[in-house]
Amino acid sequence: MGNIVLESDGKVQTMPYTLKRRNGKRGITIRIFADGSVVVSASSREPIANIEAFLLLKQEWIMKKVALMRSRPQLPQHTWTDGDVFPFFGNLVPLRIERDVWLGRKTSSIIVQDNEMIIMTASQDIDQKKVHDLVIAFYRERALSILSDEIPRRASELGLPVPSFSVIDCYGRWGSCSSSKKLSFAVRIATLPVRLIEYLVLHELAHLVHFNHGSEFKALLSSRMPDWRKRQKELYEMQALSDLRLYASQSGSSVR
Ligand SMILES: [Zn+2]
Repeated sequence: MGNIVLESDGKVQTMPYTLKRRNGKRGITIRIFADGSVVVSASSREPIANIEAFLLLKQEWIMKKVALMRSRPQLPQHTWTDGDVFPFFGNLVPLRIERDVWLGRKTSSIIVQDNEMIIMTASQDIDQKKVHDLVIAFYRERALSILSDEIPRRASELGLPVPSFSVIDCYGRWGSCSSSKKLSFAVRIATLPVRLIEYLVLHELAHLVHFNHGSEFKALLSSRMPDWRKRQKELYEMQALSDLRLYASQSGSSVR
């Protein structure tokens, strides 16, 4: 753990940070975690003076990010065990695990029923990783299922051929459209209310017509979904809640 004195907007503060040395690491990376902690990674050879100089260079960014993280309501981390709560198509559903269940050939299964997510497992015990994998596989299947209806329906409204699409485990973006006209959507779209999934589908399909976010693109969205800006804003607000990663989420990172 090191300390560095940062000065920004007339405020001087001592910022503690954790330094992680890694052999072969290239450059210096600063990460700000959800609890506001600062972690710096650098190779074991990087002189401390360089690291401190980089921190000073990035001080505005660091202070802004830390303040942002601390001002955010802290969402509890997923525990991936009984009582954990998951967003599922816009509802919050608690998780219940039933152990020692006879499932025939299967070792486990997962359903959402009566506003509850239920994992049944044939074994006595089930670890976090296994619960995580089951939950993600379930979200993926549900995302595929809704997209299989929504994409052809919207594409025909727009007079477009139905594009091929996939569901990927990614956190950088909700959806994307490649230059080869293939759409992909994040697994975690299944956390969202259906109206936000509708917006994402329309947005990516509109890229098949306009491969940018220009005025024609926006006009197309408005003609099909007059309240798309409102939905887009709601999507930003769902960002943290929809995090389904197994380990602590991190936010910004700055790299030299
Ligand atoms: Zn876009």
